[in-house]
Parts: sequence; structure tokens; C-alpha cells
Amino acid sequence: MAVDPQRTVAELKELRGLTGDENGAQRVAWTDTWERAREWLRGLVAETGATEATDSAGNQWFTLSGASERAVLIGGHIDSVPNGGWLDGCLNVLAGAEVLRRIAAEGAPPVTVRLVNWADEEGARFGRSLFGSSAAAGSMSDQDELRELTDRGGVPLPAALAAHGVDLDSALAARKELDSAAAYLELHIEQGPVLESLGLPLGVVLGTFGVERHRVTWRGQAAHAGSTPMDKRRDALAGAAKLALEIREIARRTGGGAVCTSGGVVCEPGIVTSVVETAEQLLDQRDLSAQRLAAMLSEAKAASERFAAEESIDVAWERIWSIEPILFDETLIGFAEEAVQEIDGTVHRLPSGPLHDAAEVSRAGVPTVMLFVQSLRGLSHTKLEDTREEHLELAVLALDRLVAKTVAWVAGGGGR
Ligand SMILES: [Zn+2]
Repeated sequence: MAVDPQRTVAELKELRGLTGDENGAQRVAWTDTWERAREWLRGLVAETGATEATDSAGNQWFTLSGASERAVLIGGHIDSVPNGGWLDGCLNVLAGAEVLRRIAAEGAPPVTVRLVNWADEEGARFGRSLFGSSAAAGSMSDQDELRELTDRGGVPLPAALAAHGVDLDSALAARKELDSAAAYLELHIEQGPVLESLGLPLGVVLGTFGVERHRVTWRGQAAHAGSTPMDKRRDALAGAAKLALEIREIARRTGGGAVCTSGGVVCEPGIVTSVVETAEQLLDQRDLSAQRLAAMLSEAKAASERFAAEESIDVAWERIWSIEPILFDETLIGFAEEAVQEIDGTVHRLPSGPLHDAAEVSRAGVPTVMLFVQSLRGLSHTKLEDTREEHLELAVLALDRLVAKTVAWVAGGGGR
């Protein structure tokens, strides 16, 4: 039996009808609509004979037991942002369900195959992304902060979790789900414009970008806009403006997909009749190489010192958040390239700018790889998110090939 990729497209539309409205997908995690989507998925996968269970972090697992307990995992997330698209996360889950059907029809597999629907990948309601996968990966260490989170309506996170059978304090027990994991595979829409600009339906993901996020505070002197000569000013905004342009050059010189963003500048006093006294600038830098990322950060810092001296102002840096780049498994990248080559005849490797559940699983030491399918106009997290149906079908076929190669590898002793 072969996979039926058109069925996946039809099921994506069915899910859209069931859990979306005129503004887009509404499957926000820990809501009734999300629960309805999980219930629907339960019914859909039941025919494969896979056993369904929800772990202590709310992740939904479908397990096809094989001759060996060592497991190949296929992952995705059925939750969406409010007014989200029809593909982000649920394409992965439904393509995985189609692959499970193929495997189940062939009889017991040589190794166990599990489909996981991660809980709250998006973090849309409480601002904490990758909830379920970070619990399973054992990297969740912010329970004290999570306990304090509330949604816009004032509902505390622990109460929302409890309404869906999850106890925050025991969420980390989900770690045992990865004990038998030999390899992890995830298909996702690209959510960016690269594959479309290359005219390619599919890409092999090398890993997820490391991120350095900083608040850069420039301090000068407020002074009257009329009475202060140009050469006597200590203009904090001038430093921020120079840095905003310089980081574009830093990213360009670094190349290889590196990106730097000045996401905002808040000025005080912020009135039309005064030179700016303080400018608080937000900076985000990303790259797949830890060395290149560190070099970009030190270049930006050195440039800021230079600009501060030029403008007779002070500059101070404060790290808001950072994460190391996460590189996917070389062997699985090779299988993914073979799979894409067989389906489409060409291969392109690219990094992922956004984080994904796959990054958490990879951090936990499970060999991991992702496939990307082209996103039209690079749009995601909006109802405008779209991918050509023939590309969605190619993606299902490529995932199926990748799963088959990985199952054979793990059956032969490969993987963790
Ligand atoms: Zn996603």
C-alpha cells in the first residue's frame, strides 16, 4: 500500500472547516477548539490500530508497536495561533497520520513508530512556546515563571492546564516518552520565502538558528531642539540609528543566511522639541553557527562603542534571551536529501529561522531532522498562509520516504 497524499490535503481542509472561521484557524492550545481538534485526530488515527495516550505534559501520542521497542518518532502540533493558517503544525500531524496508515497496512513494523502531537507549540495564549516538547525533552526549567503566567482574561496557566488534565508540577514526567526514541522526524511549512524564491517545493533543514537578543541602551543629553547647535548635541538616537544600519552590514558580511534585526527603538523624552536623551533599542541576531553568531555579536558591540564615541553618548548592553544553534543529525540529513531527491530530483539545504519542537527533541540527544515544504509569499501565522496542493502532496511522499529509510536504519541498529 502506498500513501495517499490527496487524502492528507482533504483532511487538512476538513480540519480547517471544523476548527477555523472566516479569520483563520482557531486551535489555540488549552481551549475547547484545540480539544475538538485532538478528538478529531483521535478518531482519524484509530483505524490504524495505533494506541493513543496523552502524556503528563498534554502531548498526544499514537503508537504502532513494532518488533523492537526502539521508536521512530514523527512529530507535529495541531495547535495554532489565533487567526492562524491552515498548515502550520497540522500538516506535520496529518502527513504523519497518513504514513502511519501505510505502515499499519503493511503489518507490524520492525521497530516501533510513534506519531506525536505536541501540546502548545505556539505559546499563543500564555506566551510560552514549545510547552509539550520542552517538557518531554527535559529542558523545561521555568515552572516557577509558568505558575505566574495568565492569559488576557486573567486565567492562570496552571488552571488552563488542569482543565485539560495536565498538572504543571508533573509535566516533566513526560521525559520518559523519549526514553525509547531512536530518531525524530518533522515535516513543516517553511514559513519563509527561500524555497519559493528558488522555485523548489521541498528543502532539507540543517538545524535551527541560534539567537542572541539584547537591549541596547543609549544615553545622551536632552537639549532644546532650537537652541542647541548641531556640534554640541549628545543625541542618543544617533547611536541607535547608526547601529540599526550597521547590523545590516554585519549580517551581509557574515552571509550564509545570517540575520540581524533592530526590532524597535523607544526614545525619551520623545518630543519634537528635544534632542533624544535615551534610546532603548532591541536587537535580534541569528545564525546556524555558534562561532559566527558570537562574532556578529562582538562586531555589533564594537560598532556600538565606536558610535558612542562619535556621538559623545554612552551605550550599555543587556542580554534579554539567547539560545545556541541546534544542528540536526548528519545521517538523517542524508536520508532527507535522498528522500527529496527521489521525489523532486533536486535538493536544497537550508537553516530554520523559527524554533520548532524538533529543536527541543534534538537538544535532548535524539537524532533529528526536518523537511520544509514551500510557503507561498513566505507568509505564516495568518489566514493568508498557503502552499500549493501539489507541493503538499510531494511533502507527504517525501516524509513517507524519509520515515521508511529511518525505520530501516533504526532496525539495523542506527539511531540513539
Ligand atoms: Zn509550527
